[in-house]
Amino acid sequence: MKSSSPILYLVIPCYNEEEVLEETTKQLKEKMQKFIKDKVVSPDSRVMYVNDGSKDSTWELIKKISQKEKLFTGITLSRNRGHQNALLGGLMTAKEYADVVISMDADLQDDIHAMDEMLKKFHDGCDVVYGVRSTRKKDTWFKRVTAESFYKFMKVLGVDVIYNHADYRLTSKRVLEELSNFKEVNLFLRGMFPLVGFQSDIVYYERNERFAGESKYPLKKMLNFAWDGITSFSVKPLRCICSIGFIILFISVCIMFYSLIRKFTGNTVDGWTFLVISIWFIGGLQMISLGIIGEYIGKMYGETKERPRFIISENLLDTQYKK
Ligand code: UDP
Ligand code: MG
Repeated sequence: MKSSSPILYLVIPCYNEEEVLEETTKQLKEKMQKFIKDKVVSPDSRVMYVNDGSKDSTWELIKKISQKEKLFTGITLSRNRGHQNALLGGLMTAKEYADVVISMDADLQDDIHAMDEMLKKFHDGCDVVYGVRSTRKKDTWFKRVTAESFYKFMKVLGVDVIYNHADYRLTSKRVLEELSNFKEVNLFLRGMFPLVGFQSDIVYYERNERFAGESKYPLKKMLNFAWDGITSFSVKPLRCICSIGFIILFISVCIMFYSLIRKFTGNTVDGWTFLVISIWFIGGLQMISLGIIGEYIGKMYGETKERPRFIISENLLDTQYKK
């Protein structure tokens, strides 16, 4: 069991969300007040909005809400930097004040009542609790199929992602401290938390529809995000080049036999055998060479990220021999 009343911060990135902020504030106020009353969280807990360079009156609204309600606060980015950067900015700010942080979207598509179970798991010793969508009935057919195929494809590429988990998650302060040592700039946060490790669990919830406003993730942004996820976490696409090279080289051997048979049975024009064998053989060799270069680039890419090589979660020396 952890200490009874941790300080909870809700981190909520907002980009042009003036239409939803009032309702979101109303619902979260009720929820937080209940948590505080039930002593699940400390009275110093807060909801922190992160304005991601909105072009509408979102920031003015956040300021107004924070003046009126002590429970609410906010930060604003100097310009729009995208959901992942805004979220990281919020998490890194919140960790200075909070013991535990939950991130969620401003449109409350993710059931806020799942927080009860998240906090329970935190009290039972979990450092990360992932919110997972049990069904996607309310998403469009297109969004459901593309999103679910994406998670499956990531698994094939060897990336440790939680199936159907977006950015609704609880994280303890120490997880965020460790996350701050990941210096990469191409962010794909849902892939980074499994790398940080620590004890984790999953909470399932039903995803709702957006109650107002439009999605800030149009198809183009979604594809970019998916591509970022793949290229920031997997070197398998580079490895594929080498495999393709070997396949082409194998084909070139088959073609060599085939064209030699054609030549000796007299079924060819002059020069054809030489040309066909050369094209396939050189094609294969080039692909393999690119693959080898790719291997080194993959290693460099890993090195440039400078991700922590290990994270110690407990050290008995701390209690055995106090310095
Ligand atoms: N968001 C952001 N910056 C952006 C785009 C989106 O901070 O450039 C926020 C947005 O305000 C919301 C969250 O990211 O709180 C998720 O966006 P949205 O709900 O539009 O995505 P969807 O649920 O449609 O995938
Ligand atoms: Mg949404």
